[in-house]
Amino acid sequence: MKSESMSAERVALVRRSLLERYDRAARDLPWRHESDPYRIWVSEVMLQQTRVDTVTPYYERWLEQFPDLASLADAEHDDVMKAWEGLGYYRRARYLHQAVGIVRDQLGGEVPTTVEGLRELPGIGEYTAGAIASIAYGTVSPAVDGNVKRVLARLYDEARPSPAWLRDRASELVHPSRPGDWNQALMEHGATVCTPRSPRCGECPVQAHCRAFAAGTQDARPARARRDPVRAVEISITVFEREGRTLLMRRPAGGLLAGLWAFPEGSPSDVAASLALVIDSAPHALDSVRHRFTHLDATYLPEVVRVVSSEPRTSAPDAKGVESLDTRWVTPGEADELALPIAQQKILSLWKAQRGPAV
Ligand code: SF4
Repeated sequence: MKSESMSAERVALVRRSLLERYDRAARDLPWRHESDPYRIWVSEVMLQQTRVDTVTPYYERWLEQFPDLASLADAEHDDVMKAWEGLGYYRRARYLHQAVGIVRDQLGGEVPTTVEGLRELPGIGEYTAGAIASIAYGTVSPAVDGNVKRVLARLYDEARPSPAWLRDRASELVHPSRPGDWNQALMEHGATVCTPRSPRCGECPVQAHCRAFAAGTQDARPARARRDPVRAVEISITVFEREGRTLLMRRPAGGLLAGLWAFPEGSPSDVAASLALVIDSAPHALDSVRHRFTHLDATYLPEVVRVVSSEPRTSAPDAKGVESLDTRWVTPGEADELALPIAQQKILSLWKAQRGPAV
């Protein structure tokens, strides 16, 4: 019958079949050799909304730079953001940095062992708390990410699984003595066999227990949510030049790409006026740079202009007049040391490529 619990016998068979497959054929990923909760935490945060192939080199470099919780808690914010540069969804790095500081300062350096304790920390939601608690500490807790949601919707043939339904089904299935391996086995199954499109049902170890397969509905489970339309925007960018340096500004603490460094947004005359800069040449355009965010298709239109006088204010109010924006004149080499979003790195490369002798 649709969506209802499985019998205890069936639950046992599903667990055994998926764990056997996991033990035999799981991908060899670096975080799977870890029992250190900090390292498992890092991997889970990086893997949110990011593919395994992308995460792996970041994870390895991260642990060389910040091998333990104390080293990350002690790190400068800019160094943390630089290490995350290119991984996207930068809020994850900010929260992780804040959270390890709390663990160091308020919890004696010990990562909480319970789902409730973990969820008190910034950036740790229900999924991440369940994953860390089960994998690092063997706590019997479910962990429902996008892969697990899809597998459960298909196993139980549920078109529109609600969070409460998912929590109940995942709790019903979680293995009582190997909860961490079980949660990873479910995720692995969703990532490699029960994939979003064209699931490989012919080689699925739980096909005999899959209600969607029996009903022929697996391609429609879960039902696809209607996506918000992607909005196209054009953003003017000003690349100031002065004595071989360019001006970067730190983005405000809230909103898109918060806390990262970027070229000023706006036309050269507007930005120059707002920063009390005098410019001496007509701007010339660099190639446009396109970047797709989740709900935004952004085209950046950079223009280069030379500055002849005046220091920019070291800080200026943002549009809401609440935050401060740091500004810095940097050489190309110094710019490379700061954390810039991918589109801004491309603009930096275009500027470097067109630059003549020092101005
Ligand atoms: Fe997924 Fe197909 Fe296996 Fe069902 S039979 S769990 S749809 S791979």
